[in-house]
Amino acid sequence: MIPIVYHPRYNITAFGLERLHPFDGRKYRRIHEALVSPGLRRPRGFVRPRPVTRADLLKVHTEEYLRSLRRPDVLAGILEVPVVARLPAWVSDWRILRPMRYATGGTILACRLAQENGVSINLGGGYHHAASAWGGGFCAYADVPLAVKLLHDEGKVERVLVVDLDAHQGDGTASVFRGWHWASIYDLYERDIFPACKEPEDFPLPVGPGLTGSDYLGIVRETLPKALDAVRPDLVVYNAGSDPFVGDPLARYRLTAGDLAERDLLVVDTVRQRGIPVAMVLSGGYSAESWKIHADAIEGILARFDPR
Ligand SMILES: [Zn+2]
Repeated sequence: MIPIVYHPRYNITAFGLERLHPFDGRKYRRIHEALVSPGLRRPRGFVRPRPVTRADLLKVHTEEYLRSLRRPDVLAGILEVPVVARLPAWVSDWRILRPMRYATGGTILACRLAQENGVSINLGGGYHHAASAWGGGFCAYADVPLAVKLLHDEGKVERVLVVDLDAHQGDGTASVFRGWHWASIYDLYERDIFPACKEPEDFPLPVGPGLTGSDYLGIVRETLPKALDAVRPDLVVYNAGSDPFVGDPLARYRLTAGDLAERDLLVVDTVRQRGIPVAMVLSGGYSAESWKIHADAIEGILARFDPR
């Protein structure tokens, strides 16, 4: 069975404040329910991660940055929710950062499980706007760089490729990877939206607004195999943001839910054809349907790679 990593503590509920940002803080629970109710997984058929430790966070983040997350004004800027600046630091740590530490632990666990099982899915994570010393765009912890660094330090991976198909550039991941010769990023993103300053990347694919599903899938079909053949990674982390969706308020691509399910299957299939383990993380997605898009796409992956 494909391991699906999830903890109920991923969900962000802070007295209704989470509704001030278009991000659905309960998206993870909804995806979990959408997989359980048709019987695709039993309620206990998920792997529960531990939250990432401070010692592990320090392998990627600076001490100063982690300390700065206790400052309400800094955290409000990262989350883009100004009212967070008025919350006591312990409240935002418990209600907002702790869920993110669980999901970061989930990405670490998913990467380990991908190595054992070929495919794994974390129902969260993908905070690709977080770098060593800064965060932004609702991302506080650089979960993917941290997860691959732990495996690299343990000698379990030699070369890693992140495939980032969230509509926004993975500037945080790219910034961390710039100092690591063994880690590369392939990134198809909308050119003129957040983040304002783009980071240099190994395989950048900036495309303007209005991209349709068939054009988008054509680009991935043509370029992803080339990136895989150039890097020859022994682990791929797939950042499967659902914000290229036509109804997403923070991006202007025009993919349907069906296109996104096809995209996720295409990526996992292309990577698995080469025998490379792949860990999928969910990343962004700001439409009301985001949970449903992910659930349908995961159902497609389970149908193909998890035959019962
Ligand atoms: Zn995004």
